[in-house]
Amino acid sequence: MIVVLKKNATEKQIQHIKQRAMDLGFKIHESKGVEVTILGLIGDERKLNKQQIEAMEGVEKVMEVLKPYKLASRDFHPHDTVIDVNGVKIGGKELIIMAGPCAVESEAQICGIAKEVKKLGAQILRGGAFKPRSSPYAFQGLEGEGLKHLAKAREQTGLPIITEVLDTHEVPLVAEYADILQVGTRNMQNFKLLKALGKQKKPVLLKRGMSATLEEFLMAAEYIMSEGNHNVILCERGIRTFNTYTRNTLDLAIVPVLKKLTHLPIVVDPSHGTGKYDLVIPMSRAAVAAGCDGLIIECHTEPEKSVSDADQTISPKRLAELIKEIKPIANAVGKVMK
Ligand code: PEP
Ligand code: MN
Repeated sequence: MIVVLKKNATEKQIQHIKQRAMDLGFKIHESKGVEVTILGLIGDERKLNKQQIEAMEGVEKVMEVLKPYKLASRDFHPHDTVIDVNGVKIGGKELIIMAGPCAVESEAQICGIAKEVKKLGAQILRGGAFKPRSSPYAFQGLEGEGLKHLAKAREQTGLPIITEVLDTHEVPLVAEYADILQVGTRNMQNFKLLKALGKQKKPVLLKRGMSATLEEFLMAAEYIMSEGNHNVILCERGIRTFNTYTRNTLDLAIVPVLKKLTHLPIVVDPSHGTGKYDLVIPMSRAAVAAGCDGLIIECHTEPEKSVSDADQTISPKRLAELIKEIKPIANAVGKVMK
């Protein structure tokens, strides 16, 4: 940990800071400059509370050398994590397409869409049974019934299914049906839910909170991993900015940054990331170029009849175009598509 002292820090204050660090078992390396004095504290950073040191008089700021996330960090696990979902490998050489409607609406709807997206080359079927809607009056999802319809679609197509879990109490039920459990943007810091997901074995796709920093995102993954489940897929789905012309601002720069900092697979959601169906293809191209491991796309056989997120949902015809267009880009960045 590096402690930068205030220009006008008194000798008494400096001694007090040093004593506190020494009492905690740290060795101190002092570097006195003309402008600033810096104390390098050498020891186990976990024993120090950054905010407590920052609160001491004479301290300008404190910088951690070690990252607060450990299990998610590449420092601790240099090789890419590849998650095997019924034979579909996420985080490896292959670029993965997850596609399906925002919400499961009926058995016929989800089975019909599943067949279409499978035909086009998608490897995983998405569909929400428990829907986190901004309005309590909006369609909340078919819940348990929806999970059964998803299972039917998997039975008919062989596609593994990803679906959202909203609440800690529903983890066992959703885990019984889903092949990947999704944590939505609104729940990224629902720590009880994250812990419950860490205690079960199914892979988890963790969507970035709409106002989450990179560190908060990785710490949320760390919550799941710290309970024993290391099969976490990160998902960039857009964040809140001053921009209003798209639903969210898709932060694609986070893809190469995450690739550097973590070994976990990274998937991009250009549907929620833009909120507009005609932006899904261009932003998919960009996401693949940025180096993501997969895309999660809202697709419906009749987008205009979609009960939720109709405006950002693409037709199978557009999904076919999307897949065709991203293939050469995937190959150019070292990924393959079957
Ligand atoms: C979804 O994938 O349907 C969804 C609700 O996403 P988000 O949590 O990113 O809004
Ligand atoms: Mn949606």
